[in-house]
Amino acid sequence: MTGRALAAGALAAALACTRGAEPTAPRAIVDLSHPFDASTVYWPTEEGFVLEPGFAGYTEQGYYYAANRFRAAEHGGTHIDAPLHFAAGHPSVDAIPLEQLVGPAVLIDVSEACAADPDHAVGVAELLADEARSGRIPDGAIVLLRTGWSSRWPDRIRYLGTDERGSAAAAKLHFPGLGAEAARWLVEARRVHAVGLDTASIDPGASKRFDTHQLLFAHDVPAFENLAGLERLPARGFEVIALPMKIAGGSGGPLRAIALLPGAGAGGTR
Ligand SMILES: [Zn+2]
Repeated sequence: MTGRALAAGALAAALACTRGAEPTAPRAIVDLSHPFDASTVYWPTEEGFVLEPGFAGYTEQGYYYAANRFRAAEHGGTHIDAPLHFAAGHPSVDAIPLEQLVGPAVLIDVSEACAADPDHAVGVAELLADEARSGRIPDGAIVLLRTGWSSRWPDRIRYLGTDERGSAAAAKLHFPGLGAEAARWLVEARRVHAVGLDTASIDPGASKRFDTHQLLFAHDVPAFENLAGLERLPARGFEVIALPMKIAGGSGGPLRAIALLPGAGAGGTR
């Protein structure tokens, strides 16, 4: 062993010692949010994301300065639905306990069934089949459903089923979602903290009553919608951090969500 290797070893040992633990394992960070811009998908009744240019350039004092304004609906792009969205008197977005937005997560890949049927509603049998394959969904997990729809983003016809705008367009929406029975099972049998997916709504697009929204939010389980990057996640063994804008009294809001994959390699920030 060279003197340099010895010194490096001593340094590593000293660092481990001062931290009182092994050096932090390398991990990858996966971005689960789409960017917000003019192409970001919003519900047909909404205007979309508007960035109003403010100032960008050098000031008279010689320093550079940039600042814009933005305007947007709470529900559009990668966002969270707070329980208040469909359940009167239930938590608004600023009141959702952080414990429900940060923690162990699982990924359930339902993309094959969704590719075969764009109106597919994920059922309990699929959740049980996933558990048989990948292990039990731990109580209190954040459950993410990968329908495969994010690969269609931001093509509104392929992603929503229509690029028409206005309330009449809502009848033409087609994309998969979580069935209400499966939502009930996740809430009652697995006590999930949150549910998310890569489509515009946790209910299938063809839904008229939004049963899954009603059921989840009556149980104070928030939903993440229009997620990205789910194809990069394993079935188990990762964590999600999903922190929305803290809009006081809001029914939802823009969401920056990431996944942490322990030991997946250094330099994995994307
Ligand atoms: Zn929403």
